[in-house]
Amino acid sequence: MAAMETIGVVGAGTMGSGIAHVFARSGFRVLLCDVEQRFLDRALASIRTNLGREAAKGKIGTGEIETALARIEPILEREALASAQFVVEAASERLDLKSEIFQSLDRILPADVILATNTSSISITKLAAQTKRPALVIGMHFFNPVPVMALVEVVRGMATSDETFATVRDLAVRLGKTPVEVNDAPGFVSNRVLMPLINEAAFAVMEGVATAEAVDQVFKLGMNHPMGPLTLADFIGLDVCVDILRVLHDGYGDPKYRPCPLLVRMVDAGWLGRKSGRGFYTY
Ligand code: NAD
Repeated sequence: MAAMETIGVVGAGTMGSGIAHVFARSGFRVLLCDVEQRFLDRALASIRTNLGREAAKGKIGTGEIETALARIEPILEREALASAQFVVEAASERLDLKSEIFQSLDRILPADVILATNTSSISITKLAAQTKRPALVIGMHFFNPVPVMALVEVVRGMATSDETFATVRDLAVRLGKTPVEVNDAPGFVSNRVLMPLINEAAFAVMEGVATAEAVDQVFKLGMNHPMGPLTLADFIGLDVCVDILRVLHDGYGDPKYRPCPLLVRMVDAGWLGRKSGRGFYTY
């Protein structure tokens, strides 16, 4: 395999821009791909702001802001990813979309290039089966905000090789992250454990056991969580929480993952959390 110098990132939203940020800051050249110029412009503006924040905290020198930005090349044509030695897909969470992206990356990229996905809930094994290189397909699950959060869940699909796993684990370390190995199963570990907590917290509110504020206080003060589960749910997006609960419910066939009706109603009302200005709290 060629030395990794150029990294492709597909999708320049919240996660793709954070992933491009951490690779560029660690010295990699990054090809950042999205479908419209305005998404790329928005990504570069937010990376600039976030690098500025890191400089203000003394984590990087001010000179490094421009150096890191200069390493990121925004692209609209997926074919331009052909020169990358590693690709992370961070496009919208839809199986049909990701399947199409994996099929085309498989055609565009040399046969020895690892294709990673940042998916939160789609099967790595299923995406790998869209390609002729299933041993080189893996989950690289970053957490939001990517420049801040230390964890990368490195998710092994059914066919992922030990070599692919070792390469991605080492890559996460080069980014200053802590990789944790998990196997492919709905929700991996993070969402399989977190979403039932959020869901149960929503049931407690729905049943009038406690207010959202009280539930969050219990977790902050009693369990030392930096934020309560409902504050976190608002931050993640209640629509995203319900989607992931449905993946868990379908994937395991276990009623314990049934999305709380209150969460579903809030999403129906357009109360999606922080991004819509209202969720369990108003913003
Ligand atoms: P987002 O909506 O902010 O960004 C998705 C981006 O993908 C958009 O800019 C969109 O234009 C782009 N896109 C859509 N189709 C594309 C295509 N064909 N080619 C290239 N780009 C395309 O979403 P996000 O929150 O950044 O999530 C991206 C992925 O990361 C999802 O798989 C999600 O499950 C996962 N994830 C999200 C979080 C989170 O907290 N937001 C955390 C971990 C993982």
